[in-house]
Amino acid sequence: MNASRLSTSRPQNGFAHNEGSETYSAQNDRRKISEMFAENVFNLQAMKEYLTESTYYKMAAVIKNNEKIDLQTAENVAKGLKKWATDKGATHYTHWFQPLTGTTAEKHDAFYKPSLDLNIQGMESLTAAELVQREPDASSFPHGGLRSTAQARGYTIWDPSSPAFILETALGKTLYIPSVYISYTGESLDYKTPLMKSCEALNQAATRVCHFFDPTVHNVIATLGWEQEYFLIDEEHYRERPDLMQSGRSLFGNKPAKNQQLEDHYFGSIPERVQNFMVDFEREALRLGIPVLTRHNEVAPAQYECAPMFEELNVAVDHNLLVMDLMNRVAIRHGLKVLFHEKPFAGVNGSGKHNNWSMATDRGKNLLNPTELPGSNLSFLTFFVNVIAAVKRYDTLLRASIATAGNDHRLGANEAPPAIISVFTGTIMADVLEHFKKHGLTTDSNAKEMFDLNIPKVPEAKIDATDRNRTSPFPFTGNKFEFRAVGSSANCSSAMTVLNAMVADQLHTFAEAVEQRKAKGASIEAAVIAQLQHDLGEVESIIFNGDGYSKEWEKEAAKRGLPNVRSTPEALDAFVTAESKALFSRLGIFNERELEARHEVLLENYIKKNEVEAELYLELIRTHILPAAYAQQSVLIENFHGVTAMGLSRAADKLRLESERLNGHIDSLRESTDELADVLEKAHTKKDTRSVAVYMATKVRPLCESIRVHADALEGLVDDAEWRLPKYREMLQLC
Ligand code: ADP
Ligand code: MG
Repeated sequence: MNASRLSTSRPQNGFAHNEGSETYSAQNDRRKISEMFAENVFNLQAMKEYLTESTYYKMAAVIKNNEKIDLQTAENVAKGLKKWATDKGATHYTHWFQPLTGTTAEKHDAFYKPSLDLNIQGMESLTAAELVQREPDASSFPHGGLRSTAQARGYTIWDPSSPAFILETALGKTLYIPSVYISYTGESLDYKTPLMKSCEALNQAATRVCHFFDPTVHNVIATLGWEQEYFLIDEEHYRERPDLMQSGRSLFGNKPAKNQQLEDHYFGSIPERVQNFMVDFEREALRLGIPVLTRHNEVAPAQYECAPMFEELNVAVDHNLLVMDLMNRVAIRHGLKVLFHEKPFAGVNGSGKHNNWSMATDRGKNLLNPTELPGSNLSFLTFFVNVIAAVKRYDTLLRASIATAGNDHRLGANEAPPAIISVFTGTIMADVLEHFKKHGLTTDSNAKEMFDLNIPKVPEAKIDATDRNRTSPFPFTGNKFEFRAVGSSANCSSAMTVLNAMVADQLHTFAEAVEQRKAKGASIEAAVIAQLQHDLGEVESIIFNGDGYSKEWEKEAAKRGLPNVRSTPEALDAFVTAESKALFSRLGIFNERELEARHEVLLENYIKKNEVEAELYLELIRTHILPAAYAQQSVLIENFHGVTAMGLSRAADKLRLESERLNGHIDSLRESTDELADVLEKAHTKKDTRSVAVYMATKVRPLCESIRVHADALEGLVDDAEWRLPKYREMLQLC
């Protein structure tokens, strides 16, 4: 390793985490998980202790049955919550919300209020008003034109369905209150508001359809189990790479000779340093009631995954954001840096965040559980087929929900699902559907056989209802759908809001059709069967059980008329079509203004990300790459003069060739950086945001990519000692 590449030492973190006797230390915590789980959460158990009986029951009803909170309840909860938090040592509280930046936001206030009368001691308090509502400046967050500096009012409002929790740092504890974030005029400025509205829309629609089979169902919740992929690198390497620090991904670098081709990282033995980091952040997460259960090495070197047990969707999203935050904080204690970018390193796999999604009734029934005999399970078939039909109807919208600058690098890159949206059912379910379409229900069993392995002592194994298909963006995986195309850095809400909305709308359409058939005299069962058989005929083109990475699929998909939208600006168009506007306003999730604003924010985000990268290209080429190349050039020239003076003409010829090769890349870099600077300057002369975004995709991005080719070639030609940016082989070799 080149010592100069590690010249900057890590900045001091201020305080070691374990300093001070009262600070939590994972190192000394030998408790079972069951003894520490959710100890920092104001959940129903804590409420039972800190709230009066009637307030407790009211809160239980709010959480379970979607009831609204009245002012008196808020008053009582505020009292109990403050007592609980201060008993645990919290001094401050904050509304915690999810603006359209993609990360979370917080502003802390002290519980303590000094008294104006010097003779009276101040005291800690939390009023109902403080619990329910706070007012941050909305013009400083992305708003897509909904706010301005002159009309800046925005509100954060308590979301009682996601429990408050206490976050600890070495020197203090703060109470976090999950909140929605809206403008003075009531429009949503965040991810949580539309997500919650979409959950309610899905609840209404799915409950309506459930009543065809079971009139006792009161409500239906969406469930989400996310799988978070990430890279982990040494923090010192990170600090030596301005591109990683500023844009989240490496803009230069050759993939190491040994990368992932030996397939030895996936599920490999977890390096000790990494495992210690995992244990540390998982403990913090468990204490916050986040049921993280799974950890493993992923496919690319230095890539890992963390997954919890699934939860109610809104809470699962909050927990994902919290885990990402915890991982960032805890990594620093271990001298590590987590990279959540979708494609931090070219040439090896990128990272996704698979969203395992299903629906469950208040009686605990998973509506996508095929059970032993899916062919006879009409309720399952109904929800299964309707999800597929929703994807068919709204495939471009689903594609739009995951479109970001980062994810563009990943989708369709032969490692992640393609940008073509399709559904994998697996062959068993495909057979079930085929049979159902022609003949209706059947009690024939085509699922779940047993393997007899014929190995002494090894037990028989059960075959799943579906095989695995890593190449599908939206496979059915046994008892849930797994939306695999979501980006690793994304807030799941964007994808989940769209999915909920699509399915809700489809379920309403289905229910209406069934009701019409019923009105014409069909029995419920006959009406449902006939409608499903009809719908199945319409959705076939979206089902694909083959290899989604193959070139043949691209051709086949084109024949089927399935769109293959590769870039974000184009993909985002689907948000603002007349159809989408009608969909979201019909379900009460976004009005037209909100949708236009969101579209604007997403485009702006795409533009800014590309601008930052382009600026970094310019800077790093001039200040890192070219100087290293010049140093190499000087060495070659000096050598050339030496060997020429000695009359070594063959050696001189070779040096000339080498120098020409080097010079070729230097010249190309000079030219293309000049061109990039020009192109960048013209970007904002375009007439509207979408045109600027398209310009970024079609002009700026390709130019940056061609610059990279020359810079990477130089990395392979320049003396290792002169190359100051840590190389891929160093960064990806963590332990
Ligand atoms: P994989 O084999 O796809 O890597 P993992 O075990 O890593 O699977 O993750 C599967 C995820 O799916 C887990 O978070 C799990 O809790 C979740 N899951 C299981 N059942 C459901 C369900 N009914 N709804 C939503 N998510 C579910
Ligand atoms: Mg997994």
